[in-house]
Amino acid sequence: MFELLFITAVGQVLLPVALAFRLWRVACRNRLEWLLRALPVSAYLFFIAVAGVWLLAPWGLLYGFALLGSAAAAVSWRRCSRPLPPGDGRNRHGFQAVLDLLLTAFCAGMLAWALSGYTPPAPPAIDLASPLKNGVFYVVNGGYSILINPHMKTLKQESLAAYRAQSYAVDIVKSDRFGRRANGWVPEDLASYYIFGAMVYAPCSGVVIMTEDRLSDLTASEGDRLHPAGNFVLLECAEASVLLAHLMQFSLSVRPGDRVQTGDPVGRVGNSGMSTEPHLHLHAQGRAGSENFLAAEPLPLKVEGRTLVRNDRLVPR
Ligand SMILES: [Zn+2]
Repeated sequence: MFELLFITAVGQVLLPVALAFRLWRVACRNRLEWLLRALPVSAYLFFIAVAGVWLLAPWGLLYGFALLGSAAAAVSWRRCSRPLPPGDGRNRHGFQAVLDLLLTAFCAGMLAWALSGYTPPAPPAIDLASPLKNGVFYVVNGGYSILINPHMKTLKQESLAAYRAQSYAVDIVKSDRFGRRANGWVPEDLASYYIFGAMVYAPCSGVVIMTEDRLSDLTASEGDRLHPAGNFVLLECAEASVLLAHLMQFSLSVRPGDRVQTGDPVGRVGNSGMSTEPHLHLHAQGRAGSENFLAAEPLPLKVEGRTLVRNDRLVPR
């Protein structure tokens, strides 16, 4: 949680303000230089709109930054229209231009990398029903680039091969109408998180092949490294196995061998396992033996026909 707090404070609050301030203050001699100053600000704002996790800072801040950036652009536009004496600060302007180009190229490259995760890889994605109902849900992690979905680090890293099945997973929390996911900033009380206790429904028809039900729900800052999935239901459906993880202790209503239909309740959202706060983890995977089921092949998934990526809103039908 500290890592997310640091990234949010620096990347999604301080840096956008600093870039807008620079655009406001920095000197330029003509419209081309103005454009060079403005480009990195807009490229960076687009990048954090796509790749930033808007959990601790509200999404609405982006509108504030867009306003601030536009005001800074307007002020510097007026200044840049007034020609400076020839030869004024040539070296300084050259340096600024190189810095602007480098910043823009870096932000645009990162944005392209993040957006590349909007396209699922082959094979065709498994189409699932929503495992959550009644509300507005926010996708914290999802997609096929590591910049928008940290589960992707299990895809290639040899040391994480035992957890590879979760590479294309999505993590989902519930939002209120202001876009907040909890009553408080980082509350200790699990019940303050709007998704805690929400009913989880089978996203496909199939057979329950494995469950865990006994692990404690941990306070928001802890994490159970020995049982990364926490309490879970592993379903075997027609096209894939599907894991619903981090469920609430003793909340499961199914057992191994049970047949379920799409939409049947299976348990409730909790905060068990390797989880920083209450959320639902959902992924699709190939068939696996019961020994090490998280080592199976990861499969791309869609929910209600949509590829879910970071910062998506899911309003189940
Ligand atoms: Zn997850």
